Amino acid sequence: MMEVTPLDDWMARRMHASGMPPGAGPERYQLERIRETVGYARTHSRFYRARLAHLDPSSIRSLADVARLPFTYPGDLAAGFADLLCVSPREVERIVTLSTSGTTAPPKRIAFTAADQELTVDFFHHGLSTFTDRTDRVVVFMPGAAEGSVGDLLRRALAKLGADATIFGPISECGQALETLFRSRASCVVGIPCQLLALSRYARSRVPAKPVRLKSVLLSADYVAPAIISALEASWHCRVYGHYGMTEMGLGGAVECRARAGYHMREPDLLFEIVDPGTGAPVKDGEFGEVVFSTLTHRAMPLIRYRTGDLARILPGPCPCGSSSKRLDRVRGRMHEAVKLEDGQSLSMADLDDALLGDPGVSAFSAELETGAERDLLRLTVHPVREPADTARWAARVRTIEPLDRLIRRNRLDLEIVRGNVPFFTTGTAKRRIADRRKASAGRVPARGTPFTFAE
Ligand SMILES: [Zn+2]
Repeated sequence: MMEVTPLDDWMARRMHASGMPPGAGPERYQLERIRETVGYARTHSRFYRARLAHLDPSSIRSLADVARLPFTYPGDLAAGFADLLCVSPREVERIVTLSTSGTTAPPKRIAFTAADQELTVDFFHHGLSTFTDRTDRVVVFMPGAAEGSVGDLLRRALAKLGADATIFGPISECGQALETLFRSRASCVVGIPCQLLALSRYARSRVPAKPVRLKSVLLSADYVAPAIISALEASWHCRVYGHYGMTEMGLGGAVECRARAGYHMREPDLLFEIVDPGTGAPVKDGEFGEVVFSTLTHRAMPLIRYRTGDLARILPGPCPCGSSSKRLDRVRGRMHEAVKLEDGQSLSMADLDDALLGDPGVSAFSAELETGAERDLLRLTVHPVREPADTARWAARVRTIEPLDRLIRRNRLDLEIVRGNVPFFTTGTAKRRIADRRKASAGRVPARGTPFTFAE
């Protein structure tokens, strides 16, 4: 028998604690919380007071009515920090400043109270119990130096589980990270997908006599290519689980169960929707669109219908683990991260990950798009696991991306593969993206065309 996600029990306890009558479903709990949030935000923030002036919270009669509320955009967080804040500054425990990558837009700022952070610890505690218990020694390769950072909240959650935790921080050098794995006799690891891939390939090539054996690995903070999951499971003999979250959610959002067939959502604290990125209209379960969420319990800076820019879908039907709660599919990528190629097709880092990371000789890579003399140039800097570097093989892999290959064959795009000379280079904690350094030229980039293609 498959173990049902521990988040079901957790939701039931949270519903009970909030005074829900026995037999009431999660929808009723979420409906009451969203009404409360709308009322609270309208009373305490200038932003929502203006935005929701004419809305009576009791007119929200079902979760479908939530689609009538206006969206909140990332730009609102940059422009209106003070207007969005619902508590006095002395009640704020942590403020996170996020630069909007690739643009000169002002940074987003998000605030949390101590209670808001405690809710995330509670979610991490129950989410981690899917695959972690008091017998485990966990190494966290995520930032943890600052109080309230993801590593710090994970440390507090692991303490509640009684597990031993080492907060290492992001991996910048594989040797030291591997040494920590051995020294702590780790059984579980939490980290960023491409960094753990680089670490596993480093370990196999440098210390083959001392294989790493782990029980479980949790990946977070970026697109997870299937190639990364299979490579980690094969080399570390572990099960790989995925977590989806962003700072705006309070860092925690959804996590896979033992069935690993979609992400169970953090339903007590967040209401998720999927909308058409163009029209903003809700899409049916099973259809891809943009992830939108509302916070249900946050006090410092509640967000109503926040547009994440992430692409995913709700998986229809019950989970094989036995839970009937809805699940979010693996996030396919970020809408604004994809670059437009000359014929209007889009290319994302996720496409390149899928094509390239299955090669056991690749440790990591970065990508940039430039204006060449004749045509655009896509340059990939690939860091090999060991010499010799087989750039021809890598080029062949990249050309399995069909629209890219078509442009190359028609002489409308050049592909250059450069061998990286920083061995086992990894890319920090920022989400990876294709650096678009093309000169702006209205004639080159088509203004219209299908915004995004969804590959399954
Ligand atoms: Zn499940």
